[in-house]
Amino acid sequence: RAKSNGRGRVCVFEVGMNAEQDRCRELERELHGAIAAGGLSLLFQPLFRPDGDLVCFEALLRWTHMVHGAISPAEFIPLAESSELIVPIGAWVLQTACQEAVAWPCDQRVAVNISAVQLLSEDFVTTVSQALSTTGLAPERLELEVTESVLIENTDQTLTVLSALRALGLRLVLDDFGTGYSSLSYLHRFRFDKLKLDRSFVQRLDTDEDARTIVRAMISMSKDLGLEVTAEGVETPAQLAALRELGCDELQGFLLGRPMPKSRIRMLIMRHHTARAADDLTPLLVM
Ligand code: C2E
Ligand code: MG
Ligand code: MG
Ligand code: MG
Repeated sequence: RAKSNGRGRVCVFEVGMNAEQDRCRELERELHGAIAAGGLSLLFQPLFRPDGDLVCFEALLRWTHMVHGAISPAEFIPLAESSELIVPIGAWVLQTACQEAVAWPCDQRVAVNISAVQLLSEDFVTTVSQALSTTGLAPERLELEVTESVLIENTDQTLTVLSALRALGLRLVLDDFGTGYSSLSYLHRFRFDKLKLDRSFVQRLDTDEDARTIVRAMISMSKDLGLEVTAEGVETPAQLAALRELGCDELQGFLLGRPMPKSRIRMLIMRHHTARAADDLTPLLVM
């Protein structure tokens, strides 16, 4: 299915690029074995409220290849999508992320990225509901992030699946907002809880007055529609200051916290609590 509509086609190369093509095929084969071989892992990146509250972690998938080392999700997710391997891999991500979140000392939410292929695959809603029930994670602590491509591809089925997911009690997030083709009516129709402004807008805040105007308009529009707004890719204090001033609800980026292994999360949460109790956020946030 994925192949027939051209989604996630990364292995389309011009004549003379055989080496690259071979690498793609080889990786696709090896990805098959990666779950069982323990080659996949998750990192978690924190999301903060503007007042410094630590509210969520986004799970980000990593593949450590025996020979090639760390392979970026930007490279292997499209491969996994075109071979539909994303379905079992995505199920593993969901299960593992929920399991981790249950073990955190506080009730931060966990955000999991879901690709279109996965969302429209058979039994996806069951997979999610089983991840929740087997781990015991409260549904309101789970956020699913989907990108705008999901909304364009198969509208009726998408609407049905998203409603069923909402009925489970979890939160739906539109990721990388502004990079695709969503219209306001889409946002309204699909009833997302939250938008994530794409990093490209955040980056331009430093240098570009127009970017500020666009982000202000996006935030005000989202608020009017009853949506929360997160900004991703916050890298500089100037971007942070601008986003706080514009009324962004949540912030994520290297300035505030890099994706980290699960072993560091407990410590971050504890430190965060101590800082909050002392009303001192300076060690955590350069705000
Ligand atoms: P995304 O969901 O938009 O995730 C944010 C990406 O931006 C992550 O890259 C993160 O490490 C990076 N990032 C966060 N803060 C900053 C910053 O301040 N500056 C910069 N330059 N980058 C920042 P990552 O981990 O390489 O993931 C790339 C994409 O791969 C994700 O984009 C998501 O679309 C996809 N992905 C990752 N994990 C999964 C997964 O488990 N399932 C699916 N379907 N897709 C995934
Ligand atoms: Mg995401
Ligand atoms: Mg994103
Ligand atoms: Mg992004």
